[in-house]
Amino acid sequence: MSPTLTRHEMFIGGRWTPGSGGAMEKIHNPATGEVIAEVPRGSAEDVDRAVAAARQAYDETWSESTPRERSECLLKLATTIEEHGAELARIESTNVGKPLAPTLSEEIPPIVDCFRFFAGAARVLEGRATTEYMSGFTSMIRRESLGVVASIAPWNYPLLMAAWKVCPALAAGNTVVLKPSEWTPLTALRLAELAADILPPGVLNVITGDGEPVGAGLVRHPGVAMVSLTGDVATGKEVARAAAATLKRVHLELGGKAPVIVFNDADVDAVVEGIKVAGFFNAGQDCTAATRVLAGPRIHEKLLQGLVPAVGSLKVGDPLAEETEMGPLVTAEQVDRVAGFVDRARSGGAEILTGGSRLDRPGSWYAPTVVVPSGPGDEIVNREVFGPVVTVQRFSDEEQALAWANSVDYGLAASVWTRDVGRALRMARRLQFGTVWINAHIPLVNEMPHGGYKQSGYGKDMSIYSLEEYTQLKHVMASLD
Ligand code: NAD
Repeated sequence: MSPTLTRHEMFIGGRWTPGSGGAMEKIHNPATGEVIAEVPRGSAEDVDRAVAAARQAYDETWSESTPRERSECLLKLATTIEEHGAELARIESTNVGKPLAPTLSEEIPPIVDCFRFFAGAARVLEGRATTEYMSGFTSMIRRESLGVVASIAPWNYPLLMAAWKVCPALAAGNTVVLKPSEWTPLTALRLAELAADILPPGVLNVITGDGEPVGAGLVRHPGVAMVSLTGDVATGKEVARAAAATLKRVHLELGGKAPVIVFNDADVDAVVEGIKVAGFFNAGQDCTAATRVLAGPRIHEKLLQGLVPAVGSLKVGDPLAEETEMGPLVTAEQVDRVAGFVDRARSGGAEILTGGSRLDRPGSWYAPTVVVPSGPGDEIVNREVFGPVVTVQRFSDEEQALAWANSVDYGLAASVWTRDVGRALRMARRLQFGTVWINAHIPLVNEMPHGGYKQSGYGKDMSIYSLEEYTQLKHVMASLD
């Protein structure tokens, strides 16, 4: 059955196949609440089938392929995705509630570029030069694939996160079982369909279902060599614990709580525009979202004067309408989560300057919100809300800004806004985050690594560093006699 129809199947071993248990999961359009599709609710048996198919493909075809052959497949996939960009953006928009126009302009091109980047990277993996370290013996280094990789993706950027995982895994010569989020599986299924004529059967398998038994089943499976998860910190901890039983390699891209540190000399208009975009893109459901603004004493007031009306004027509505800047949140559960954070902050004495409520319409909506917390210890300042909510605090000096910025458990991304180059670089050095932007917030490029410090996880997505993580090193030492 084609995944563009309402009732889907899984893609295992190059074939569409129903889930073994027959149970189905309903997929919703968060903008309307309507059911738009049904996908199989996978079981342990489906995990077994997918891992076996991936292993067979690894042994019979993919591990024997040359970097050039893998590169050519990835290039073809890039072109196919580009050709189907409008369709993929529409599926993503309908399943996640993303505004269609920015999905097409801001998400599809980096996805295509990710396939192209790793197509190139597949052919240029480098290693150290080696020599004779013991007389009579010569050493060499091999960089080898791992085997079957389980890629477990979140719901906020379903296709982009799938690309970040699948591309380096395949480029390095591994085969993949991809498990999209149970809420947003539709673009992953479409990707499998687009790849069906390009990749040998079993190289990319897509199975659907819940974290338990499907995601956790992959983590437990002895046939899986590596698990790459993008998800919540709590899920990352569970995955790391479960993976310890088989000591499989784990790659974790987890949550964030990005500080936006605005010094007194910053260009306030640029900061307002930056937060309006980076705080509310994808309705704030972004691990690097500009959520935690720390403003200097002489810019704080001016910043709020610009930011509050800018956020209040965001065009919230139908994701398919051209002018829409923000759509719904992904599910009603996510709205409950966001509302819970804001309501608790309000009861604790925080001031809500705009938004702060659900929007009364079918689907799952929450207003873009700006909060002045009651203090630096507030829950809303320290925990990931993952919704259209930005907090603004006033710091007294650079040391306090740095201490507050670093005080959270997360360490994914941060930004510094100042015209003082020395200060910007000093902050960049001392901020404990895997990405630091200066006078910007949110742009990413496939050539550079993306990943967390602290409880935002370990392992890098994108870049040659990511490719290396999907390989293992072997030392070969030969007698010269
Ligand atoms: P989630 O942790 O609930 O789910 C992520 C995936 O893990 C889903 O496919 C889910 O089914 C699966 N899963 C759940 N429990 C599992 C288990 N025990 N074993 C294996 N798999 C399991 O996360 P989410 O709500 O889908 O995504 C939002 C989270 O992702 C946020 O915290 C966000 O910050 C994070 N995220 C991080 C990055 C990054 O690059 N660091 C990017 C995007 C999203």
